[in-house]
Amino acid sequence: NMSSVKVAVRVRPFNTREKERKGKCIIQMNGKTTVISNPKQPKENPKSFNFDHSYWSHKVTDDQFASQKQVYNDLGVEMLQHAFDGYNVCIFAYGQTGAGKSYTMMGKHDSTDQGGIIPQMCQEMFARISESTENNNLNDSEGSVTFSVEVSYMEIYCEQVRDLLNPKNNKNLRVREHPLLGPYVEDLSKLAVQSFSDINNLMDEGNKARTVAATNMNATSSRSHGVFNIVFTQKRHDVSTNLETEKVSKISLVDLAGSERAESTGATGKRLKEGANINKSLTTLGKVISALADQAKSKKKRGDYIPYRDSVLTWLLKENLGGNSKTAMIAAISPADINYDESLSTLRYADRAK
Ligand code: ADP
Repeated sequence: NMSSVKVAVRVRPFNTREKERKGKCIIQMNGKTTVISNPKQPKENPKSFNFDHSYWSHKVTDDQFASQKQVYNDLGVEMLQHAFDGYNVCIFAYGQTGAGKSYTMMGKHDSTDQGGIIPQMCQEMFARISESTENNNLNDSEGSVTFSVEVSYMEIYCEQVRDLLNPKNNKNLRVREHPLLGPYVEDLSKLAVQSFSDINNLMDEGNKARTVAATNMNATSSRSHGVFNIVFTQKRHDVSTNLETEKVSKISLVDLAGSERAESTGATGKRLKEGANINKSLTTLGKVISALADQAKSKKKRGDYIPYRDSVLTWLLKENLGGNSKTAMIAAISPADINYDESLSTLRYADRAK
């Protein structure tokens, strides 16, 4: 894969509703390839897609699905290394509601083996920081590295930004542009954390605020994008030259709004508008990613137009998607025939990101 975006597909186990409706499995995986068959057209050839990873197994039993650990090892470890190397990093999960996006990104983060990419990545980040700090103390003569970690957590709902770490502030925040640092959210809380348990507490708080906000708006959190940001700074002090250098990496971990189409849920009025907004940011994200992928494959020149500004989500992720950055995408799908249309559209979306 020459492109800058790593793409993985993950199938979740059958859920109760699918089992009750005697759903049939329409997804197959062979190595990196994901194959989907159309249950309405059994004679039609199944459609086949290649990705960096296809997470599933052949028998549809729960214990054979790829573990949280495996997904983290394949995608998270590499992204964390990029952050230590000074790149901006973005990992996002795409798919219809209930397909496994928040399980993949957050999971049950207070549990030992059900934690998703975000808690696993934070845990390893602090483990590496303390390792490095110990080593610093051992050979002080060569100079030392100090680290700082700051966290923000926001939600984008209908093109409006809300602060999940300061939910009392229920104003919508303004999105502005810094002449050097690029787009940012005015007044968004950015909290310094010293340990994994600090960051874990903030995650918890933010997740709760996300659910509460959704309830108040008479929506579900599946209608909003959850964006968890870590600003990771490494300051190196070189004893021989007495110079200080700084590497700053922004890590954005995004649980996208459900990709299902408004039409299929019979939405009207406010819901329809909501759907249109969600589709707009997901469509724009798709365009941005595929434009960047084309650029990486030199089909497009650097500097060619990339429509970051067309949605708040892509505008705020600008520095994490283009330029000095590494991106991974996980497309989450259901295994069942009743979700064929949504799963196919998710696979097509993922395919365009390569
Ligand atoms: P989404 O965020 O896409 O709406 P969720 O992550 O909430 O979906 O997943 C829906 C349900 O399926 C949850 O109960 C979750 O625990 C379960 N689930 C999702 N993916 C997996 C998986 N890979 N293995 C086991 N359970 C999963």
